[in-house]
Amino acid sequence: MKALLRKLVVKISLDSKPFFMGGLTLDLNLIFLGPPGSGKGSQALLLKRDYGILHISTGDMLREAVAKGTPLGKKAKDYMDRGLLVPDDIMIEMIEEKLLQSSLSVGFVLDGFPRTLPQAEAIDNLFKKMNVKLTAVFLFNASKDVILDRLVNRRVCRNCGALYHLKYSPPKVNGKCDFCGGELYQRDDDKEETILRRIKVYEEQTASLIDYYRAKGVLVELDANRSVDEVYMDIKRWLETGSHVG
Ligand SMILES: [Zn+2]
Repeated sequence: MKALLRKLVVKISLDSKPFFMGGLTLDLNLIFLGPPGSGKGSQALLLKRDYGILHISTGDMLREAVAKGTPLGKKAKDYMDRGLLVPDDIMIEMIEEKLLQSSLSVGFVLDGFPRTLPQAEAIDNLFKKMNVKLTAVFLFNASKDVILDRLVNRRVCRNCGALYHLKYSPPKVNGKCDFCGGELYQRDDDKEETILRRIKVYEEQTASLIDYYRAKGVLVELDANRSVDEVYMDIKRWLETGSHVG
């Protein structure tokens, strides 16, 4: 870690906008690419826990803005109510707002955006405007079977939101939450048919994005078929040495 910190401090003094936190200067600006169920969210949470890196899940960000009724949230809701996708420029504005609020952070993980080439170009322009340097793009490679196994067996507590997996972390009592006794259910997003459709959309949209970031020399591929801990060790190794993983 020390070597990387030194490298980052030098890099920051030369070019990009520095982030400061408790005297520590870090500037890990990451994008996570990967299909649903490839574990991006779990890894982002660990990076947040260990390094204080902000997790920008664009899905959560959007839901939050709509729930709070912010000016951008209202605009987005107008599209969502009509069953339309929220336009890229609104998403980009929301991400910009989030980054401006996070000046005390040591960097961020962008999760869920970009998904298309035009979105990636728009993000490039935003970073340029904000003098933010992209550190790396982590690509979570996971097979269809592994993703299905993870998501189809997932159950959520209707009351407190706790997550369970019928095989790997089942509740003590079938169908009941360990923490609050609430009813466990399967989200529509986790049904097999929906998952297969989401994987297909991901593959169609994101293939060109992978080439784009590979050509820029920032793509880091991870074998995301393994456990959360194993994948996290790879990410940490990369952070410490900047060397290839997987
Ligand atoms: Zn519960």
